[in-house]
Amino acid sequence: MVINVDGIEVKLIRKNVRRITLKVDPDGSVSISAPKSAKIEYVQSFVLSKTEWIRSVLAKKSDGPFFINRCNNGDKITILGNTYTIKLVIDGGKKVELSGDSVLVHLSEKNVERREKILLDWMKFSLEREVVGSLKKWNTITGLDCSDVVFKDMKSRWGSCNVVTKKIAFSLRLLSQKSECIDYVVLHELTHTVHRNHDRNFYGYIERFMPDYKRISKSLVMPVKNQ
Ligand SMILES: [Zn+2]
Repeated sequence: MVINVDGIEVKLIRKNVRRITLKVDPDGSVSISAPKSAKIEYVQSFVLSKTEWIRSVLAKKSDGPFFINRCNNGDKITILGNTYTIKLVIDGGKKVELSGDSVLVHLSEKNVERREKILLDWMKFSLEREVVGSLKKWNTITGLDCSDVVFKDMKSRWGSCNVVTKKIAFSLRLLSQKSECIDYVVLHELTHTVHRNHDRNFYGYIERFMPDYKRISKSLVMPVKNQ
């Protein structure tokens, strides 16, 4: 049988074994072998405790989008689903812009050491623009709203929602994804303000407003870091 844990499909194989073994195959499929007596809740919580590891293995396998951990000439970065090459332009300017397949980082000699921060600030600004637009759209359509939005460098999840305070956090890495994926993550987190868990009601609610959500959520790929 196949179980879905936090968006990851895992093939569960019952065996005459004593311990649970989780593996990610070369083709990216995830399977778990578990003792016949192991309760499904136990298997699920085991997988849940390993989701960060699974995602990191999958990200390494995939030719996934790039996220910066430096900002050097020639580094690759993926923005809204397209991959760009970083070019430093030492012209005393102070802005970042997209030009063809390049991201131009204009800066002065004395700011070269701060280039990563300059690029990250721009990414945060760009993501904020996308997310705020999406929040407004979903607010008009669904009536759902949140109390606050923050952006953090979260590595293993795209977003999170505090169901009590209705404060939503988004990973800065979300900027690497296509607009429709950002739209999905925004709706997903907003939905948590009315449905705490990833149950049938939760996905039923999402499907009402985004009938294509399964295809879109599957196309979300955790980014790999530049080496
Ligand atoms: Zn969720």
